[in-house]
Amino acid sequence: MLVGAIDCGGTKVLAALVDEKGTVFSPQCASIPTRDKARYFVDSVALLRASCLEHGVAFDSLDRVGISIPGMTDGGDRVLGSPSAGWGEFSVTPLLRPLFPEPAVQLFLENDVNACALAEQRFAAGGDDFIWLTVSTGIGGAVVSGGRLLRGATFCAGEIGHMKVEFDNPAPCGCGGRGCLEAHASGTAIGRASVVAGMGSDAAACAEEAKRGNPLALEIWQRAGRYIGRALAAVSCVVNPRSIYLGGGVARSFALLVPGIKETFTRDVLPQCAEVEIQPTRLGYNASLLGAASLCFPMGSA
Ligand SMILES: [Zn+2]
Repeated sequence: MLVGAIDCGGTKVLAALVDEKGTVFSPQCASIPTRDKARYFVDSVALLRASCLEHGVAFDSLDRVGISIPGMTDGGDRVLGSPSAGWGEFSVTPLLRPLFPEPAVQLFLENDVNACALAEQRFAAGGDDFIWLTVSTGIGGAVVSGGRLLRGATFCAGEIGHMKVEFDNPAPCGCGGRGCLEAHASGTAIGRASVVAGMGSDAAACAEEAKRGNPLALEIWQRAGRYIGRALAAVSCVVNPRSIYLGGGVARSFALLVPGIKETFTRDVLPQCAEVEIQPTRLGYNASLLGAASLCFPMGSA
């Protein structure tokens, strides 16, 4: 069975058809401005139409479409806010429903990091107890415990990026707080440290320098890793995971982060919770797209 998947990013949108094994067919990608929400969803669904056309599948024959959103959602059809897209709270049904044929295609919506975690569980045998951490421009987290995604009382569970990890020199964070993990270990934070050290403008340039053995660049990555390890140790004491998966653009430099992560994680975690495998996601670049697809194939379904 093929489902439609749309990964709605803050800057680019990916759409594709995906089968129950997580194979991606006819992926389409485009930069779509988020300012006009109605236009954004029209253009995003047009990408899915293009995917159907390329794959020789009638768009009208799709039964299920999953959509991942770069912001908080309520587990239903409401987006609660997306700083990266510049969106406040709104319902997607009035925007999306008219773009699909009647009788109703089933639409599924989820926060992108939650969706990544569900995809790790569904398509990559991620297990029933794990933490998913996206390290990208910002930092997002999700927790699966006892096989279920933790949502929390106001749907904000797993916001690991806003745990406080620096108290002596706390940097300001996009959330309005100071000293958040995101403010000290995201791609933005690594890029900023790289500029201060005179090594280029972003995390990718800093990664290149580190891979060449530049000790300043290596220290920037290890420091980011130490902050991440500190936060993961604290969450691990609460949810006692078996695995931790890292995804996102910055996590592609996993080898540069891991010495720092292991240093503080091992130091800070309760010994009884220390047996955790920390590894890069097995989903690769399409994690969030597969996350959107996984919403259409709930665990336990074929
Ligand atoms: Zn924050």
